[in-house]
Parts: sequence; C-alpha cells; structure tokens
Amino acid sequence: MNSPYCGKFRVTQQYKPGTHDGLDLVGIDSKEVHATISGTVHYAGWENPGNHAQGFGQYVCIRGTDGLLYYYGHLSELKCKTGDLVACTDVIGIEGYTGHVIPSGPGGSHCHYEIRGAFYKGAKVYDVCSRSGIPNVKDGVYDDGYRPGTAPAKKEPDIKAVQSALNAHGYDCGTADGIAGPKTLNALINAISDLWC
Ligand SMILES: [Zn+2]
Repeated sequence: MNSPYCGKFRVTQQYKPGTHDGLDLVGIDSKEVHATISGTVHYAGWENPGNHAQGFGQYVCIRGTDGLLYYYGHLSELKCKTGDLVACTDVIGIEGYTGHVIPSGPGGSHCHYEIRGAFYKGAKVYDVCSRSGIPNVKDGVYDDGYRPGTAPAKKEPDIKAVQSALNAHGYDCGTADGIAGPKTLNALINAISDLWC
C-alpha cells in the first residue's frame, strides 16, 4: 500500500483512535492526493452539500479491494467521481481545507486519511498507521518512495512465453505474437487434452 502522497509529506496530527481516527497529512513535494489502494469510489463529494464547513468537507471514500473504506478528507478539488474504478496511485483529488478545518490555524491545508470498516460515522476504525506504514509521529516527514510511473505494472499473463513453450513442445501456435488467437487456443487445448489422456 502506498501513501496518499507522491514525494515528501508531513504528519501534522497523529492517529489517536477515539479522538482522531485518522492521520492528518500535508504534502510537501505535491498537493495531489493518490488512491492508496485499488477499488471503487464509494463516494466523492461534500459531506454536507449545504454546509461546506462541516466534517470532512469535500472528500473521497474508496471501497478497497480488501473491502475496507478509505477516506481522504478536506480536499480542495476532486479528481474522481462516485462509482469510478480507481487503481492504487491514481490521483483522486487535491489537498485542501474544506470541512471542519481552520484555514489559518495549525490544521490548514491537509488531507485527513482514515480507514473504516463500513460507510458511516462510528463504524469500526482501522489502524491507518500499521496499514499504511506511515509512522505515527507528529511533524514527522515521510516519503514512501512512490513516484509517478513507478507503480508496479499490472501482472498480465505472458502469452508470448506460453506460445513459445507450446511451439517448443510441438503444439503449433504460429508466430509467438502475444495474441491468444484461435491457433494459440487450439494448441493449448491439444496440449491439455494430451496431458489428460
Ligand atoms: Zn484529521
């Protein structure tokens, strides 16, 4: 799991379950907020459209592939919408001070990052520090090393390697072109039925 920021960021308020259920983070190198897990945008919008100074203000909640809900609060801009599929490291918003934040105070522009078990206030809160690896140290500056374009590539099956192996064993795929066309599938079926017979 990566952090919500690319480059250095500062922890301005620690995670204290029951008192402060998430981490307050301030981007140093960039104000872009990134998805820390792949999943679906469960909600992107105002906590209270009638009162922009309430709670998380403008925020994003992602239902991660692990089933948990990842909250990114106080955003000045949203870069995703409810229902979007997001991949880990996608930019989902820009840090800000919407919601219950004193713009000129020690809070100022930041992202409140929190993990819950369900989409309601009072739901079980998960330890954001142990899950994210971000040290629970006030004023600590942290950088998880993530840079744009360095996210691990999606693991796709290596069709070319499969074709080469089939060809080498006498199951004709034609040219190993990485495309699983009818010839490749036929060769695969022949290889499998030979194994089973
Ligand atoms: Zn906070």
